[in-house]
Amino acid sequence: MKIGIDAGGTLTKIVIEKEGERSYQSRLTTELDDIAVWLNQQDCDCIHLTGGNSKELAKRLNCETVSFVEFDAAHKGLEILLKEQDIKLDTYIFTNVGTGTSIHLANTHEQKRVGGIGTGGGMIQGLGYLLTHIKDYQKLTDLAQQGDRECIDLKVKHIYKNSKPPISGELTAANFGHVLHNLDCDFSDADKLASMVGVVGESITTVSIHNAREFKTEDVVYIGSSFYNNPLLREVIENYTRLRGFNPHYVENGAYSGALGSIYLS
Ligand code: ADP
Repeated sequence: MKIGIDAGGTLTKIVIEKEGERSYQSRLTTELDDIAVWLNQQDCDCIHLTGGNSKELAKRLNCETVSFVEFDAAHKGLEILLKEQDIKLDTYIFTNVGTGTSIHLANTHEQKRVGGIGTGGGMIQGLGYLLTHIKDYQKLTDLAQQGDRECIDLKVKHIYKNSKPPISGELTAANFGHVLHNLDCDFSDADKLASMVGVVGESITTVSIHNAREFKTEDVVYIGSSFYNNPLLREVIENYTRLRGFNPHYVENGAYSGALGSIYLS
């Protein structure tokens, strides 16, 4: 049995490969003690670790461990998943939307971290709580899917009311910039959350495609647990990436790239 673990800022991702079968699971990193108790009962000689909390986890484990840099592990695992999912890319940007967002230039052999931005899953949870007082991730993201951004976000077409804009009217001109024009709207929690997911997704897309342009590729691969139960985030990012002329790719189980890749690094 092979175990690879990515102990991240919010979630600990666990990949187990046994007799040709692979399983994926994730737990809150705040439950690291319980995770260690469970791991200490598994039949494994050496556990492969990555992520910011890997040292904390290693301290609690009885078996041998080996740790890897999370960016290399994510790249290794992503390459495996791309191949399995028949997504053929040469040079590409991959954007890992975790608690924060990390951006990498990659090809089949190597990766280089080329940027990052503090908008990501942590902001969705934290600003989401400040806006609605909802702590539960499932409830928060369920509600965000029902929101309408129309009264909150100012689009280019709202500014160019009766004339043709020089850029797509569908682009957001100002996130939250429509609020004061619409004070008679009732701004529901769902609407606020949808707009917040919008600004997170659009800022991530902007920095990702600027990197894609700089490094002369049209392909951007998005991974990370922030897409769990949040099809709205995926939709915002995919649509905006396409609108700007680039190709978005979403990889199934991409959130487990680091944990999977750690198994195959040596
Ligand atoms: P990290 O490695 O930094 O923990 P992840 O890729 O695991 O990053 O993504 C963490 C983000 O995933 C959180 O900030 C949150 O937005 C989202 N998330 C998905 N599922 C959950 C969950 N069950 N509980 C908390 N956050 C979750």
